[in-house]
Amino acid sequence: MRVIKEGPDAGNRWHHLLGWVLPTKCETCGRFLRNESNPSFCRSCWETVSLIDGPCCPCCGKPFASEAALSHSPGHLCGDCREDRPIFDRAISAGWYEGVLAQAIHLFKYRGKSVLARFLGALLLGAAEEAGDADCLVPVPLHVSRLREREFNQALLLCDVVGSASGLPVIPDAIHRTRETVPQIGLSKPIRRRNVRRAFACRDPEHILGRRILLIDDVFTTGSTVNDCARVLKRAGAESVIVLTVARTPDGAG
Ligand SMILES: [Zn+2]
Ligand SMILES: [Zn+2]
Repeated sequence: MRVIKEGPDAGNRWHHLLGWVLPTKCETCGRFLRNESNPSFCRSCWETVSLIDGPCCPCCGKPFASEAALSHSPGHLCGDCREDRPIFDRAISAGWYEGVLAQAIHLFKYRGKSVLARFLGALLLGAAEEAGDADCLVPVPLHVSRLREREFNQALLLCDVVGSASGLPVIPDAIHRTRETVPQIGLSKPIRRRNVRRAFACRDPEHILGRRILLIDDVFTTGSTVNDCARVLKRAGAESVIVLTVARTPDGAG
């Protein structure tokens, strides 16, 4: 995937100016932020984001302990995928959901720091390049009642960042939630699956048919939510669905 380089924008210059008048502190170390492009974290804290690299399951992206599993068979799947193959073709996450990245996602999602989309989206771009050729970007939707209370869908903001850097079109309403699900955090894997089952429907099948889709969300936990979204996209005729998330929980437990 080709990434178009961004030029300096007016919003960023304004943020720098505001930083001198009303300096804010780094959310992690408490240092005053001056001349930092990130509005919530100093550069040295942001550099502690732990990126996921190394051998992993070619389907769900679960890391392997060593290269051994892939050295003889590059398509070797993890035990979970062999037992119950996900509907999505592949899942790629940029970093681990821990430390500064977990803090940033929390601020972005629950404390209205939508300005962090640019920084989280930049991490997602690395994962998108790994995904290869694609036709469009689809966000995991929020239920309308949650959208009303949060005022924005974090996955759509991330899509917009990846879309403007890559030139890929965003299909914002491809999927919608047919019912509200309880938050996945803290639920066991079978309960998570039950929680999201049949919670989504495809609203825009003419833009899905025959397309290679990058399905975008902020965090990958067990993959139940994105798998259910992939199911409706495949039913609508998607050629492939690759899941891209900013972060992945280390143990799949949220
Ligand atoms: Zn800091
Ligand atoms: Zn797997």
